[in-house]
Amino acid sequence: MNQCEVVSGQWLVIRFLTSHFSLLTSHFSLLTSHFSLKEKTERMKEKMQKIQMKTPLVEMDGDEMTRIIWKMIKDILICPYVDLKTEYYDLGLVHRNETNDKVTFDSAEATKKYGVAVKCATITPNAARMSEYDLKEMWKSPNGTIRAILDGTVFRAPILVKGITPYIPTWKKPICIARHAYGDVYKNTEMVVQKGAKAELCVTNPDGSEQRSLIHDFAGSDGIIQGIHNLDSSISSFARACFNYALDQKQDIWFATKDTISKKYDHRFKDIFNEIFEKEYKSKFEAAGIEYFYTLIDDAVARVIRSEGGYIWACKNYDGDVMSDMIATAFGSLAMMTSVLVSPDGVYEYEAAHGTVQRHYYKHLKGEETSTNSVATLFAWSGALRKRGELDGTPDLCQYAENLEKATIQTIEEGIMTGDLYLLSSLENKKKVSTQQFLLEVEKRLAAMYA
Ligand code: NAP
Ligand code: MG
Repeated sequence: MNQCEVVSGQWLVIRFLTSHFSLLTSHFSLLTSHFSLKEKTERMKEKMQKIQMKTPLVEMDGDEMTRIIWKMIKDILICPYVDLKTEYYDLGLVHRNETNDKVTFDSAEATKKYGVAVKCATITPNAARMSEYDLKEMWKSPNGTIRAILDGTVFRAPILVKGITPYIPTWKKPICIARHAYGDVYKNTEMVVQKGAKAELCVTNPDGSEQRSLIHDFAGSDGIIQGIHNLDSSISSFARACFNYALDQKQDIWFATKDTISKKYDHRFKDIFNEIFEKEYKSKFEAAGIEYFYTLIDDAVARVIRSEGGYIWACKNYDGDVMSDMIATAFGSLAMMTSVLVSPDGVYEYEAAHGTVQRHYYKHLKGEETSTNSVATLFAWSGALRKRGELDGTPDLCQYAENLEKATIQTIEEGIMTGDLYLLSSLENKKKVSTQQFLLEVEKRLAAMYA
């Protein structure tokens, strides 16, 4: 799809034309490097056959700057090496609007069918987007829709590179957060209560009988109350997704709640995890040489800070929300986080943890040079290709994914990086490059691995 379809309204078309005109200059200056890249790629193609894929990946395209990066990654780094097979779904907001969001549902169903998807960041519409894209409706977050269909848990882990030191000096290996994405305070009911009121929890059973329990007698003061819930089925899915992911990564998994205080609610999480582990995973964990470890949330926080990393930390919804931001920041940046949604029946959807980087996109549209970090999107592709390779038994594809990640890290560790990392890196000979230059530098190193 070209940019004209992405935007609507005359002024946006004009903006598009202006930007493409001024972009000509930068494209022209890149011709030389493209030319040598093309020559190199041709030479490489003569030497080796492109890596073959057995089963297609589900490809979910997205919006704004990440959509631009998406195409660059495919053109520069993937298609010259891999005979890429994908089933393509355009989740860009224009196409979601055209299909009344059907494309999002279709892409999630295709993910269930094929088992592995890679997703570009997408716009979740708000009031400003309604007029910008002339939307029929304020479509829901595609991530929310996909998550609900796949019944998944989101795993996020930082990508470590030399020169960007975690704020916690003991952290040597990544800490992966597994966040339960259903219920608790995110699906709550709250009320402001007047002095003199009495608040009770009341449950009507299927036989019509009632169970009541006093929350508080507000005799002396106004106050607030909140009702929250979760489901055994959702907690069980969460537990299985965590245990499967730990086996997949061959890493220990920690889980923590506040079961000493919340003796029914949080305790239920602890019990479900424990039952499922004992029945279904204990022997698999023993065989893999990994551990499941439960502790109180405050103890977990203290242990995490003292640890050297290298494990998965499963968190209830709110804990995961807060702790994943803490982990991302303490390790460096959201543009250096991998993110994968794993369903209990082993379906994987890889994505970047950040958004569509709107501010950079508007610069790009104006023809200005951008320096947007593509690492998280690159790792979404490498993660998906590796998983496809594992499931299909195609080791060349797994090796390619490995090489792509190595070339990316090597580029940054040799001092070539985008603006966001340039601000963080302690390397002495660091150099800030544009979005496209960075990918061309990664390609140089990747090409050397296949030379
Ligand atoms: P964002 O796209 O993550 O960007 C926020 C800021 O973080 C950017 O302006 C930029 O800072 C920095 N940043 C994020 N990713 C970067 C990267 N790859 N390279 C360099 N800098 C990066 O969040 P947003 O601006 O709040 O949201 C934009 C759109 O993304 C929204 O429409 C939202 O709905 C959508 N969104 C999608 C997803 C998803 O699909 N997974 C997730 C979150 C948000 P500077 O401007 O200071 O350079
Ligand atoms: Mg948060």
